[in-house]
Amino acid sequence: MALLPVTEALQRILDSAALLESEDVDLRHAFGRTLANSVAARVDNPPFDASAMDGYAVSSMDGATTPASFVVIGESGAGKPFADRLGKGQAARIFTGGAMPEGADSVVIQEDVLANGTTVTIREVVLRGANVRTRGQDFIKGEILLQQGRRLTARDVLLAASAGHATLPVIRKPVVAILSTGDELVEPGAPLRHGQIWASNSFGLAAMVEAAGGEARVLGIARDSHESLAAALNVSDGADILLTIGGASVGDHDLVRPALERAGARLDFYKIAMRPGKPLFFGSRVVAGVRQHCLGLPGNPVSAVISARVFLVPLIGWLLGREAPLATIDAVLTEPVEANGPRQHYMRAALDITHSPPRVTPFKSQDSGLITALQRADCLLVVAADSPRQPEGTVVDVLKLDI
Ligand code: AMP
Ligand code: MG
Repeated sequence: MALLPVTEALQRILDSAALLESEDVDLRHAFGRTLANSVAARVDNPPFDASAMDGYAVSSMDGATTPASFVVIGESGAGKPFADRLGKGQAARIFTGGAMPEGADSVVIQEDVLANGTTVTIREVVLRGANVRTRGQDFIKGEILLQQGRRLTARDVLLAASAGHATLPVIRKPVVAILSTGDELVEPGAPLRHGQIWASNSFGLAAMVEAAGGEARVLGIARDSHESLAAALNVSDGADILLTIGGASVGDHDLVRPALERAGARLDFYKIAMRPGKPLFFGSRVVAGVRQHCLGLPGNPVSAVISARVFLVPLIGWLLGREAPLATIDAVLTEPVEANGPRQHYMRAALDITHSPPRVTPFKSQDSGLITALQRADCLLVVAADSPRQPEGTVVDVLKLDI
């Protein structure tokens, strides 16, 4: 089978995936979720004319010529409105957030009055509407405040609450079951015997899944045997994506693809024209009537994280109905990049965002055995298959690694 170009592989993955259903969540759990419908205001904000300052509510007509004196006949505090109407020459003590009494259209701040018993005197002319937040000046009932497909920020949640919503319609989180495979793998923290390594990938990938808006379910470690793999695949029921790690190439111990096929999966492709990360497969199966996407990543941690960034993160975004699954940004090379071979290269690199456009410097060593270099990288510098040598100053695509 020929190596599949990255963009074509990604397109095939996205084409096979459909938007998930929506559900209502309460505001407390809405942060980071993706809106299934646009959100409209249920009320005007502010809901009533309110004072923006501590001071005195007056009619600007009464304060048109100065000095002007007012008799203070009551008080309007936040949550405790003044019940009566102000007559000519009358004022009400008012505090920030207090409702404007009938008969008043302006607030004179307390620093600008001379108080003497129940009388206050002002020297400056009162401007109509001064220090008043008028009803609906922020938003009005029915106005669309948040668009469908938006990933909710902390401020979005606050805005929705201030617009009268206690729950929000969001897309269900895609559940991603993560299975590490390999006879050499041991859970992090457990003692290592000679020849063993810790299964680090599951933990990094679970965090990537959650940051992308999915729900990660770590299934543990399957051994390189048909029995162990079959048993592990059985417990992935209910997951929208089954992510396997390792055993994806064609060695004697690479049994994941045959095990998946025995478990009912139809594999669309394996082997991508990318570096690192060539042995990667994708397909799907139907488990208990539900379609499950099967993505098989290479076991090498650097390859696993990079292929998850390139294929898994966009797939999760797609299932959630978000746009621009593989948004790269422009950056300027600080040094030349040599001509590339037939596989698209994702170089670990440093990104300097103090310049505009940002500057990118690929690391000296691109050895895919260096987990430290992956951890230090700010981004992946994308070098297209068969691209010629690119001199310093060339504008290139980079994919941010922001988690
Ligand atoms: P494989 O793709 O199974 O041939 O594995 C390639 C390399 O990645 C081997 O050195 C494995 O020991 C290592 N590897 C496989 N799975 C994991 C994992 N879950 N965490 C860390 N390293 C792994
Ligand atoms: Mg293996």
